[in-house]
Amino acid sequence: MSDALDEELGVLREAAGALHAARRVLVSTGAGMSADSGVPTYRDEGGQWRDFEPFTSRGVRPEQVAHLDGYQRDPEQAWGFHEHVRRIMRTAEPHAGYAVITRWIDERWADDAFVLTTNIDGLHRRAGLDEHRLWERYGSVWDLQCVDACRPVAWHEPRAPLADIDAQTLRARGAPRCPFCGAAARPRIQLDHDPAFLPDPVGAQRYERFLETPVDVYLVIGTTLWFSWPDEVAERPRVIHVNPDAATHQRYPNGIGITMGAEDALLGLDFLLRRLAR
Ligand SMILES: [Zn+2]
Repeated sequence: MSDALDEELGVLREAAGALHAARRVLVSTGAGMSADSGVPTYRDEGGQWRDFEPFTSRGVRPEQVAHLDGYQRDPEQAWGFHEHVRRIMRTAEPHAGYAVITRWIDERWADDAFVLTTNIDGLHRRAGLDEHRLWERYGSVWDLQCVDACRPVAWHEPRAPLADIDAQTLRARGAPRCPFCGAAARPRIQLDHDPAFLPDPVGAQRYERFLETPVDVYLVIGTTLWFSWPDEVAERPRVIHVNPDAATHQRYPNGIGITMGAEDALLGLDFLLRRLAR
Protein backbone atom coordinates (compact mmCIF):
# COMPACT_ATOMS: atom_id res chain seq x y z
CA MET A 1 0.00 0.00 0.00
CA SER A 2 1.32 3.44 -0.87
CA ASP A 3 2.23 5.86 1.91
CA ALA A 4 -0.29 8.39 0.60
CA LEU A 5 -3.15 5.90 0.71
CA ASP A 6 -2.05 4.73 4.14
CA GLU A 7 -2.13 8.29 5.37
CA GLU A 8 -5.54 8.93 3.80
CA LEU A 9 -7.00 5.87 5.49
CA GLY A 10 -5.43 6.88 8.79
CA VAL A 11 -7.14 10.26 8.61
CA LEU A 12 -10.48 8.62 7.75
CA ARG A 13 -10.10 6.27 10.71
CA GLU A 14 -9.35 9.13 13.06
CA ALA A 15 -12.41 11.03 11.81
CA ALA A 16 -14.64 7.97 12.11
CA GLY A 17 -13.38 7.48 15.66
CA ALA A 18 -14.29 11.06 16.54
CA LEU A 19 -17.75 10.62 15.02
CA HIS A 20 -18.24 7.31 16.80
CA ALA A 21 -17.51 8.95 20.14
CA ALA A 22 -19.61 12.05 19.42
CA ARG A 23 -22.90 12.59 21.20
CA ARG A 24 -23.84 15.70 19.21
CA VAL A 25 -22.82 16.57 15.67
CA LEU A 26 -23.25 19.67 13.54
CA VAL A 27 -22.90 19.04 9.80
CA SER A 28 -22.24 21.97 7.50
CA THR A 29 -22.44 21.49 3.73
CA GLY A 30 -21.71 23.75 0.78
CA ALA A 31 -20.96 23.82 -2.92
CA GLY A 32 -18.47 20.94 -2.71
CA MET A 33 -21.26 18.65 -1.49
CA SER A 34 -23.50 19.40 -4.47
CA ALA A 35 -20.62 19.37 -6.95
CA ASP A 36 -20.52 15.57 -6.60
CA SER A 37 -24.16 15.55 -7.75
CA GLY A 38 -23.27 17.52 -10.86
CA VAL A 39 -24.43 20.94 -9.66
CA PRO A 40 -21.85 23.33 -11.09
CA THR A 41 -20.16 25.81 -8.79
CA TYR A 42 -20.55 29.19 -10.39
CA ARG A 43 -18.42 30.97 -7.83
CA ASP A 44 -14.89 30.10 -6.74
CA GLU A 45 -13.73 29.59 -3.16
CA GLY A 46 -13.23 33.32 -2.76
CA GLY A 47 -16.79 34.05 -3.91
CA GLN A 48 -15.75 35.34 -7.34
CA TRP A 49 -18.01 34.36 -10.22
CA ARG A 50 -16.56 31.92 -12.71
CA ASP A 51 -17.20 31.78 -16.43
CA PHE A 52 -20.54 30.07 -16.79
CA GLU A 53 -21.90 28.77 -20.08
CA PRO A 54 -23.98 29.45 -22.05
CA PHE A 55 -23.98 32.91 -20.48
CA THR A 56 -20.32 33.89 -20.77
CA SER A 57 -20.05 33.31 -24.52
CA ARG A 58 -23.21 35.37 -25.11
CA GLY A 59 -21.87 38.28 -23.14
CA VAL A 60 -24.29 37.88 -20.24
CA ARG A 61 -22.49 38.18 -16.91
CA PRO A 62 -24.64 36.46 -14.28
CA GLU A 63 -23.07 38.57 -11.54
CA GLN A 64 -24.38 41.68 -13.32
CA VAL A 65 -27.96 40.46 -13.72
CA ALA A 66 -28.75 37.84 -11.08
CA HIS A 67 -28.96 40.07 -8.05
CA LEU A 68 -31.65 42.17 -6.40
CA ASP A 69 -30.99 45.21 -8.54
CA GLY A 70 -31.10 43.05 -11.66
CA TYR A 71 -34.45 41.56 -10.64
CA GLN A 72 -35.89 45.04 -10.04
CA ARG A 73 -34.49 46.47 -13.29
CA ASP A 74 -34.80 43.55 -15.70
CA PRO A 75 -36.42 40.46 -14.13
CA GLU A 76 -36.56 38.57 -17.46
CA GLN A 77 -32.77 38.70 -17.78
CA ALA A 78 -32.23 37.81 -14.13
CA TRP A 79 -34.72 34.94 -14.37
CA GLY A 80 -32.93 33.63 -17.46
CA PHE A 81 -29.99 32.76 -15.21
CA HIS A 82 -31.92 31.27 -12.32
CA GLU A 83 -34.28 29.40 -14.64
CA HIS A 84 -31.18 27.75 -16.13
CA VAL A 85 -29.75 26.98 -12.68
CA ARG A 86 -33.08 25.59 -11.44
CA ARG A 87 -33.28 23.20 -14.40
CA ILE A 88 -29.78 21.88 -13.63
CA MET A 89 -30.68 21.45 -9.98
CA ARG A 90 -33.94 19.67 -10.86
CA THR A 91 -32.01 17.17 -13.02
CA ALA A 92 -29.32 16.57 -10.38
CA GLU A 93 -29.77 13.56 -8.11
CA PRO A 94 -28.58 13.61 -4.51
CA HIS A 95 -25.48 11.38 -4.41
CA ALA A 96 -24.97 8.54 -1.94
CA GLY A 97 -23.33 10.88 0.59
CA TYR A 98 -26.65 12.67 1.09
CA ALA A 99 -28.31 9.38 1.97
CA VAL A 100 -25.53 8.69 4.47
CA ILE A 101 -26.21 11.97 6.30
CA THR A 102 -29.97 11.32 6.29
CA ARG A 103 -29.46 7.82 7.71
CA TRP A 104 -26.97 8.96 10.35
CA ILE A 105 -29.53 11.40 11.65
CA ASP A 106 -32.46 8.97 11.43
CA GLU A 107 -30.68 6.05 13.03
CA ARG A 108 -27.77 7.36 15.06
CA TRP A 109 -28.08 10.91 16.34
CA ALA A 110 -31.73 11.93 15.88
CA ASP A 111 -32.21 15.23 17.75
CA ASP A 112 -28.48 15.39 18.45
CA ALA A 113 -27.49 16.25 14.90
CA PHE A 114 -28.28 19.18 12.66
CA VAL A 115 -27.42 20.17 9.09
CA LEU A 116 -26.58 23.74 8.19
CA THR A 117 -26.27 24.17 4.43
CA THR A 118 -25.39 27.07 2.18
CA ASN A 119 -26.70 25.15 -0.80
CA ILE A 120 -29.87 26.38 -2.46
CA ASP A 121 -30.61 23.25 -4.49
CA GLY A 122 -32.81 21.40 -1.99
CA LEU A 123 -30.82 18.15 -2.37
CA HIS A 124 -30.79 17.41 1.38
CA ARG A 125 -34.60 17.49 1.37
CA ARG A 126 -34.77 15.28 -1.70
CA ALA A 127 -32.50 12.80 0.11
CA GLY A 128 -35.15 12.58 2.81
CA LEU A 129 -33.52 14.68 5.53
CA ASP A 130 -36.04 15.65 8.21
CA GLU A 131 -36.69 19.38 7.75
CA HIS A 132 -36.59 19.82 11.52
CA ARG A 133 -32.91 18.98 11.35
CA LEU A 134 -32.06 21.38 8.51
CA TRP A 135 -31.45 25.08 7.99
CA GLU A 136 -30.95 26.22 4.40
CA ARG A 137 -28.96 29.30 5.38
CA TYR A 138 -29.10 30.98 1.96
CA GLY A 139 -32.62 29.89 1.07
CA SER A 140 -33.83 27.62 -1.71
CA VAL A 141 -34.51 28.03 -5.41
CA TRP A 142 -37.70 25.99 -4.81
CA ASP A 143 -39.22 28.86 -2.84
CA LEU A 144 -40.16 32.15 -4.48
CA GLN A 145 -40.79 35.58 -3.03
CA CYS A 146 -41.82 39.03 -4.24
CA VAL A 147 -38.91 41.06 -5.58
CA ASP A 148 -40.12 43.99 -3.50
CA ALA A 149 -40.87 41.76 -0.49
CA CYS A 150 -44.33 43.43 -0.45
CA ARG A 151 -45.17 41.05 2.38
CA PRO A 152 -42.97 38.70 4.37
CA VAL A 153 -44.29 35.61 2.63
CA ALA A 154 -42.54 33.09 0.41
CA TRP A 155 -44.25 30.32 -1.51
CA HIS A 156 -43.13 26.90 -2.67
CA GLU A 157 -42.67 26.45 -6.41
CA PRO A 158 -41.15 23.09 -7.30
CA ARG A 159 -41.78 23.23 -11.05
CA ALA A 160 -38.88 23.28 -13.49
CA PRO A 161 -38.96 24.40 -16.24
CA LEU A 162 -40.94 27.34 -15.01
CA ALA A 163 -40.30 29.76 -17.88
CA ASP A 164 -38.92 29.67 -21.43
CA ILE A 165 -35.38 30.81 -22.07
CA ASP A 166 -34.66 32.66 -25.32
CA ALA A 167 -31.75 30.82 -26.92
CA GLN A 168 -30.05 34.01 -28.09
CA THR A 169 -30.60 36.56 -25.35
CA LEU A 170 -30.99 33.99 -22.53
CA ARG A 171 -33.87 36.08 -21.21
CA ALA A 172 -36.78 34.25 -19.59
CA ARG A 173 -40.28 34.53 -21.03
CA GLY A 174 -43.27 33.98 -18.78
CA ALA A 175 -41.27 34.39 -15.58
CA PRO A 176 -43.42 34.17 -12.43
CA ARG A 177 -44.90 37.20 -10.71
CA CYS A 178 -45.86 37.99 -7.13
CA PRO A 179 -49.44 36.78 -6.57
CA PHE A 180 -50.04 39.59 -4.07
CA CYS A 181 -48.92 42.74 -5.89
CA GLY A 182 -48.09 41.62 -9.44
CA ALA A 183 -44.42 42.69 -9.26
CA ALA A 184 -41.75 40.25 -10.43
CA ALA A 185 -41.14 37.17 -8.31
CA ARG A 186 -37.64 35.86 -7.61
CA PRO A 187 -36.14 32.79 -5.98
CA ARG A 188 -35.97 33.05 -2.21
CA ILE A 189 -32.18 32.85 -2.12
CA GLN A 190 -29.58 35.16 -0.66
CA LEU A 191 -28.33 37.33 -3.54
CA ASP A 192 -25.48 39.84 -3.35
CA HIS A 193 -26.44 43.03 -1.47
CA ASP A 194 -29.89 41.70 -0.81
CA PRO A 195 -31.86 43.37 1.99
CA ALA A 196 -35.13 42.03 0.51
CA PHE A 197 -34.15 38.34 1.04
CA LEU A 198 -36.68 36.57 3.25
CA PRO A 199 -34.69 34.08 5.32
CA ASP A 200 -36.39 31.04 6.78
CA PRO A 201 -37.01 32.08 10.41
CA VAL A 202 -38.02 28.59 11.53
CA GLY A 203 -34.79 26.98 10.30
CA ALA A 204 -32.71 29.68 11.95
CA GLN A 205 -34.53 29.20 15.26
CA ARG A 206 -34.07 25.44 15.16
CA TYR A 207 -30.39 25.92 14.47
CA GLU A 208 -29.93 28.35 17.36
CA ARG A 209 -31.81 26.01 19.67
CA PHE A 210 -29.58 23.12 18.58
CA LEU A 211 -26.45 25.11 19.45
CA GLU A 212 -27.69 25.74 23.00
CA THR A 213 -26.33 22.30 23.91
CA PRO A 214 -22.62 21.79 23.22
CA VAL A 215 -21.61 19.98 20.04
CA ASP A 216 -18.76 17.40 20.07
CA VAL A 217 -18.02 17.24 16.37
CA TYR A 218 -18.41 19.80 13.64
CA LEU A 219 -18.33 18.06 10.24
CA VAL A 220 -17.63 20.60 7.48
CA ILE A 221 -18.14 19.37 3.92
CA GLY A 222 -17.17 21.39 0.86
CA THR A 223 -18.05 24.79 2.22
CA THR A 224 -16.13 27.96 2.84
CA LEU A 225 -18.76 29.29 5.22
CA TRP A 226 -16.80 30.62 8.14
CA PHE A 227 -18.41 29.57 11.33
CA SER A 228 -17.76 31.12 14.71
CA TRP A 229 -19.05 29.56 17.87
CA PRO A 230 -21.01 31.71 20.29
CA ASP A 231 -18.71 33.19 22.96
CA GLU A 232 -20.49 31.38 25.75
CA VAL A 233 -19.51 28.01 24.28
CA ALA A 234 -16.27 27.25 26.12
CA GLU A 235 -15.67 23.76 24.77
CA ARG A 236 -14.91 23.95 21.05
CA PRO A 237 -15.99 20.92 19.02
CA ARG A 238 -13.58 18.75 17.09
CA VAL A 239 -13.66 19.80 13.43
CA ILE A 240 -13.64 17.27 10.59
CA HIS A 241 -13.03 19.14 7.35
CA VAL A 242 -13.77 17.46 4.00
CA ASN A 243 -12.35 19.11 0.90
CA PRO A 244 -10.40 17.62 -2.05
CA ASP A 245 -8.08 20.66 -1.93
CA ALA A 246 -5.64 19.95 0.93
CA ALA A 247 -4.67 23.62 1.22
CA THR A 248 -8.15 24.47 2.53
CA HIS A 249 -7.59 22.40 5.69
CA GLN A 250 -5.52 25.30 7.03
CA ARG A 251 -8.80 26.99 7.94
CA TYR A 252 -9.11 24.56 10.85
CA PRO A 253 -5.60 24.20 12.31
CA ASN A 254 -6.60 21.62 14.94
CA GLY A 255 -9.10 19.85 12.73
CA ILE A 256 -8.99 16.50 10.95
CA GLY A 257 -8.57 17.28 7.26
CA ILE A 258 -9.96 14.69 4.83
CA THR A 259 -8.59 15.36 1.35
CA MET A 260 -11.39 13.73 -0.61
CA GLY A 261 -14.60 14.63 -2.40
CA ALA A 262 -17.80 14.75 -0.36
CA GLU A 263 -19.37 11.53 -1.60
CA ASP A 264 -16.22 9.39 -1.21
CA ALA A 265 -15.49 10.80 2.24
CA LEU A 266 -19.02 10.20 3.52
CA LEU A 267 -19.15 6.65 2.15
CA GLY A 268 -15.74 5.92 3.70
CA LEU A 269 -16.75 7.36 7.07
CA ASP A 270 -20.02 5.45 7.00
CA PHE A 271 -18.23 2.18 6.26
CA LEU A 272 -15.82 2.69 9.17
CA LEU A 273 -18.56 3.84 11.54
CA ARG A 274 -20.51 0.67 10.91
CA ARG A 275 -17.43 -1.40 11.69
CA LEU A 276 -16.94 0.53 14.92
CA ALA A 277 -20.58 0.04 15.89
CA ARG A 278 -20.28 -3.74 15.91
ZN1 LIG B 1 -45.42 41.52 -4.14
